Amino acid sequence: MSTNSRFQRAMSFMLATSTLTIGLPTARATAESSWVPPAQYVNLPLQEQISDPAATGSLPEAAKPVSRGPSGFYAHVEQGIILLRDSAPTKCLPGDLRDVVADVAARFGAISVESTHRNRSRNWRAGGARHSLHLSCRAIDFRVQARARGVMAYLRSRPEVGGLKVYRNGIIHIDDGERRSW
Ligand SMILES: [Zn+2]
Repeated sequence: MSTNSRFQRAMSFMLATSTLTIGLPTARATAESSWVPPAQYVNLPLQEQISDPAATGSLPEAAKPVSRGPSGFYAHVEQGIILLRDSAPTKCLPGDLRDVVADVAARFGAISVESTHRNRSRNWRAGGARHSLHLSCRAIDFRVQARARGVMAYLRSRPEVGGLKVYRNGIIHIDDGERRSW
């Protein structure tokens, strides 16, 4: 029937216009929302900071014992800037010497602590002096990645350092005994 086909044509026209009218607000919404994303974008970095372990990681660590603030010896150990050998205990060391080593790490970069307290047989094997301050855990042998000369000048400027020596293999010895070198 022709009436039916005319109705169908009318329906398809209405559908087409309704699509247009529906389409228009959508287009306007997209245009309007163009100033909304910047606000969301501003919020995004905050979310990232909250989930970033580097930003939140300092919170629980604050409760842990650190020799001197966040730049202390054990903070550097946790950050991997100071490497410790299992055979080199550090709790028995004078706090002054730990602080000096922490400051060297902060100024000159990564350090590895090679030797601290040594019992008599270990001290003998290491070629240590008979009355070495390593026997009473008052000495640290460490390596620095940086040039030793600048480090030695810095160590000489620190009144906490008594004995000071750089060995041919690059290992630096400091202790809290009398100021001397050999
Ligand atoms: Zn030594």
